Amino acid sequence: MIDLKKCKVRWDRDNYVPKKIYGFETASSKGTPRQIAEKFLKENAESLKITASLKDLKYERTSESLASATVLFQQYFEKTPIHGAWVAVHVDKKGKIFMVKNDTVPVKRLEIKIKRKMAVPMPLAKIDRIIKSRIKELGILNTEINKESMIYTQRGNFRQAWKVKFGTKQPAASWILFIDAASGNIFDERNVLRNADGKGQVYVPNPVVTLNNDKLFDQKDSNQDVFNKAYRAVILKSLETGGRLKGPFADTTNTPNCAKALNNEFMYTRYDDRFEEVMAYYHIDTVQRYIQSLGFTGSKGILNRPIKINVHGGRQDNSFYDPSPGKKDLTFGDGGVDDAEDADVIVHEYGHAIQDAIISGFGQSNEGRAMGEGFGDYMGASFFSQYKKGDRKLKVAEWDAKGYQGGPEECLRRLDSPKHYPEDMEGEEHADGEIWSACLYKVKKLLGRKKADIVILESHFYLSQYVDFKDGAEAIIMAEKNIYGGKKTKGLQNIFKDRGILQ
Ligand SMILES: [Zn+2]
Repeated sequence: MIDLKKCKVRWDRDNYVPKKIYGFETASSKGTPRQIAEKFLKENAESLKITASLKDLKYERTSESLASATVLFQQYFEKTPIHGAWVAVHVDKKGKIFMVKNDTVPVKRLEIKIKRKMAVPMPLAKIDRIIKSRIKELGILNTEINKESMIYTQRGNFRQAWKVKFGTKQPAASWILFIDAASGNIFDERNVLRNADGKGQVYVPNPVVTLNNDKLFDQKDSNQDVFNKAYRAVILKSLETGGRLKGPFADTTNTPNCAKALNNEFMYTRYDDRFEEVMAYYHIDTVQRYIQSLGFTGSKGILNRPIKINVHGGRQDNSFYDPSPGKKDLTFGDGGVDDAEDADVIVHEYGHAIQDAIISGFGQSNEGRAMGEGFGDYMGASFFSQYKKGDRKLKVAEWDAKGYQGGPEECLRRLDSPKHYPEDMEGEEHADGEIWSACLYKVKKLLGRKKADIVILESHFYLSQYVDFKDGAEAIIMAEKNIYGGKKTKGLQNIFKDRGILQ
């Protein structure tokens, strides 16, 4: 028998139970840790306020560490487990017990309180309906539903409850609900999916813009001193556990040999292939959060899910969004400058995904495809306009363009093209997209960045798979009218008339 007066003890104030006993050591004894623990609990039942027969304690498991074994028991009331009521007996290598943790509830208290307060339980079918309707609000179920009857204790009070576990996607979460068995009330609910913020460094949007330097060269992806000042330390938000760049809106694990950092620190420079993963994760996560901040959130969300990304998809200088069934993912090429080293390119490709999320199969006509390219360019330009000075605000992907053979190029495309519709159409979507992006850029000048972004995103909901520039122009005018009352109808019409799109 141990003498509590000679031990260190922490007491549970609700149930008057010694909840942690330490600062002692029993004599060493033979037997398995479980046998040693059970013998000890029987001998000290009175001090621990547990039943001497241990009939309400069920052996759960023994876990071994370097220097000890921990033997765990769960407390039951009749046949129902009591939430959080455990006994843990810690045994060292010599068979000596050196600590006991005891979160049990004295049986006498349980009997009095539970029997007095136990209400008639709600029928199971009704509980199931409550669970189903709550899941609908929380996301899309993507696991089985695990349901367990238990007694829930809280500040010395008890109630019969259901503990329900399941996982959802969109958003990704792992839920535990506690439902009162009598009333059906969900009285406790938590998401136990562990998300954490990480650290990384990126270009915002690219080194040409940040360093204001057009004389940068890829030189085989090498680390050159000139790039040192172009890196920005950033927070990588809401990473899932597991050390990957995987969160609620972006997931780079489609990349071969993808980055893994269990401490969530992803500090790489451009020569390191993992740098582009950090770029893709950070910029896509940031753009999606911006889109949500505009009001496209919850049931009005656009692409409110992790998009899969392969940042090293091949040697070609080509990046793409793949709308195939079961894919709907992004791939970035490594030809010239790695495409994912330029955030203008990342956001451009995400733009295609955004359009496909609003109208599945968008861009089946020539002009629709050109609108896709123009929208992607506009998205990048609008999103990074605060980082770009003067003429650079009009240039798309200045860094990626530097990777072409035959010396540096200014930029991939511009947003101030003078091209006129229809005579300047070439039938190539990126070239023709300059007609559309130039219009969108003027919409931004007319409405301001935030309103323009809202109106342009909203306008996509009025489009369909086969559209032309005229449909796109009319949709933008409709969206401005629906959201802001049509004050800028005339101004918007003029933008598209000047361009030859509207008559
Ligand atoms: Zn594109």
